[in-house]
Amino acid sequence: MAVIAEPAVETPTGVDFSLSEDQQLLRDEVRRFAVERIQPGVAERDREHRFPVDIFQEMGEMGLLGMLVPEEYGGAGTDTLAYLLAMEEIARVDPAVAVTFSVHNSVCCWPIVRFGSEALKRKVLPSLAAGETLGGFGLTEPGSGSDAASLKTSAKRDGDSWVLNGEKAWITNAGYAGWYVVVARTNPEAGKRGLSAFVVPGDAPGFSTGKPEEKLGLKASRTAQIYFSDCRVPAENLLGEEGQGLKIALATLDHSRLGIAAQAAGIHQRALELAVSYAKERVQFGQPIANNQAIQFKIAQMATELAASRALLFAAAAAEHTSQAGRLAAQAKVYASEAANRACQESLQIHGGNGFHDDYEISRLYRDVRVTTIYEGTSEMQRMVIARHLLKE
Ligand SMILES: Cc1cc2nc3c(=O)[nH]c(=O)nc-3n(C[C@H](O)[C@H](O)[C@H](O)COP(=O)(O)OP(=O)(O)OC[C@H]3O[C@@H](n4cnc5c(N)ncnc54)[C@H](O)[C@@H]3O)c2cc1C
Repeated sequence: MAVIAEPAVETPTGVDFSLSEDQQLLRDEVRRFAVERIQPGVAERDREHRFPVDIFQEMGEMGLLGMLVPEEYGGAGTDTLAYLLAMEEIARVDPAVAVTFSVHNSVCCWPIVRFGSEALKRKVLPSLAAGETLGGFGLTEPGSGSDAASLKTSAKRDGDSWVLNGEKAWITNAGYAGWYVVVARTNPEAGKRGLSAFVVPGDAPGFSTGKPEEKLGLKASRTAQIYFSDCRVPAENLLGEEGQGLKIALATLDHSRLGIAAQAAGIHQRALELAVSYAKERVQFGQPIANNQAIQFKIAQMATELAASRALLFAAAAAEHTSQAGRLAAQAKVYASEAANRACQESLQIHGGNGFHDDYEISRLYRDVRVTTIYEGTSEMQRMVIARHLLKE
């Protein structure tokens, strides 16, 4: 397997020039860490479905698990673009580590920072930011995915506690997370306004996790169901106000989608690098296959689409606090994830039969990239978000 080093194929978009010195330094530091500390053993972890606890401990020490947490709560307080640059570097090397990085920062820490009371932030954020524990996010249920508002997990107030009952499906970091942001129904009569969000401790009485799911890709990440059986959560762990659960979930997903777009761009970058190096090395008909225009066109298309993904991602990050944020994040996510899927498909094709072999990195990327058009909102849902914005304007 090719050792991952500095990108063999640089693909600047022009937008890169607007990176601040701090952002460039951070990107270089994460790139170095990913190559030196995450890359060794990536294929074995995938084969053995092994969750790399040690890597997350190191990431915590580096401040990577508190990137979106303000310094006053123990975080690094970095901006969204810096977070996306880090995501891309991590995903380029190991998309399975990238999904834990994404869920922890984007859908657990971020909503707590944005919607949590001062007391809740002080209680929860320091341990998450230091990487002493990981974060999870529980929205999806066996019967409710894209239609999140139809979820059934219930939460009833009982004295100083909320009592949760139900189950959540597809929960990343299940069993490893110390805190989960969970959306549950607090008022069965109030429809979309009857949902509320909670921060549930991983050791709460009545909380349990299921067996790890056997997935197509991201095999070194942990995904499982989580269950609530009269699970008691202190009243002060309500996130935001009662009835705001759907609003909090949707705002969180608007933000976190950018992370998935960056994850896709990182995988895309690596698929391109692998295609270029293999095309130059592989000789058929007495010459490198790279000499054929049919191969060159695939590579040119991959590089062009990657530049377009990055440009959309940067534009969406720049518009973070505007009314266009949701639309641009959806556009970046749908485009970057679909482009990355095409890139992995074409890179594997360039590898010929070897691309179908486990020893070749592209075969893992081909599996890992598939889910990027599905989680944190499918491509179909992104197109609905985009169209809704446009038709409303
Ligand atoms: C590896 C992995 C990790 C995940 N991690 C988490 C996590 O940590 N926390 C969490 O809460 N969830 C998580 N998820 C769940 C994920 O977000 C959902 O799978 C996703 O939102 C889609 O929901 P669904 O699978 O129920 O598909 P469904 O909603 O059942 O959709 C099935 C198909 O129908 C299409 N569809 C549905 N409605 C419409 C419509 N109105 N118009 C057109 N097409 C439509 C969809 O686009 C899709 O193609 C994870 C999933 C995976 C695979």
